[in-house]
Amino acid sequence: MKYILTDKIRIGISACNFGAKVRWDHKGWDRVSALGRAQSDYIWTPICPEVMSGLGVGRDPVRLVSGNGDDYWNGAAKVKNRRGRDVSENIREGVRVCLDALKRADVEAFAFMEGSPTCGVYRTTLKDKRLGKPPGVFGAMLLKEDYFLIPALDIESPWKWWDWRRRLHAYAWLRRQEIHVKKELYDIWHALKFICQEIDIPTANAIGVALANAPGKIDQPFISAWRRQALDLVRRPSQLNRIQAVMTKHYAHYRKQFGYKIADVAVPDSNLGKKNFIEALEKLERKAFEDGYHFSGNPVAYRPPRNN
Ligand code: SF4
Repeated sequence: MKYILTDKIRIGISACNFGAKVRWDHKGWDRVSALGRAQSDYIWTPICPEVMSGLGVGRDPVRLVSGNGDDYWNGAAKVKNRRGRDVSENIREGVRVCLDALKRADVEAFAFMEGSPTCGVYRTTLKDKRLGKPPGVFGAMLLKEDYFLIPALDIESPWKWWDWRRRLHAYAWLRRQEIHVKKELYDIWHALKFICQEIDIPTANAIGVALANAPGKIDQPFISAWRRQALDLVRRPSQLNRIQAVMTKHYAHYRKQFGYKIADVAVPDSNLGKKNFIEALEKLERKAFEDGYHFSGNPVAYRPPRNN
């Protein structure tokens, strides 16, 4: 059985990672071009809260003072620039405008700039500069709005992006599923349980047990809580050694099933190096998809609808 997404996932991104030179010192990085043609599998919404706050490019750098982004929203912390000017109100307006744009764009995921006192989520430190405590002012709102969060830097890492992408697809697919009866939940769990087990076995087992112990007739509160648990789990990154182990297993199964060697596809083992490993993996997945073969370690594929 194939699990396919046909609509493009919408991803917000810190604009300085989308090629826009909007950082205070005119810097910006085009991380998305590393995806090549695959970048058009998504709809991107670049935003910059600091620019939308009206501070402009060429502005003084800002920092959080007396707390983190949550403290800021509770009124206990401020944002000041290098000269000590309080720019809290500017930033508040910039964040508000950007969140509105993300909502209008209907994004499900956000690729954030780690290390920024505004967009940072888990770190607001750049090199030796501590710019307040995480999360940043905008990062705190990204967490509150419950987006699927991706460190933008990981877009440039082939294996990290491979992991983010498969989990993002699984996440978006699960969100779209209409669920009314227990059988539908079992079918969904069948699709996602291997990736969930790869990420965290105890949590995956707890999700499976909750389903097995559910009454025959399930209600919407149960479905929502179960879906929430699974969505939260697929947001967590896996590890390279686990990815390699799973995909090597898939490769062996695939060869056994089809009985031939895939031209140009190296056996995905750890001697290949990260980049070549992921290239081999992607070729293998494309070939397997054409053969109607389903990889449980990367269960949901994006395929645009055909124009006919
Ligand atoms: S980290 Fe965020 S606020 Fe800072 S330049 Fe990038 S997009 Fe703008």
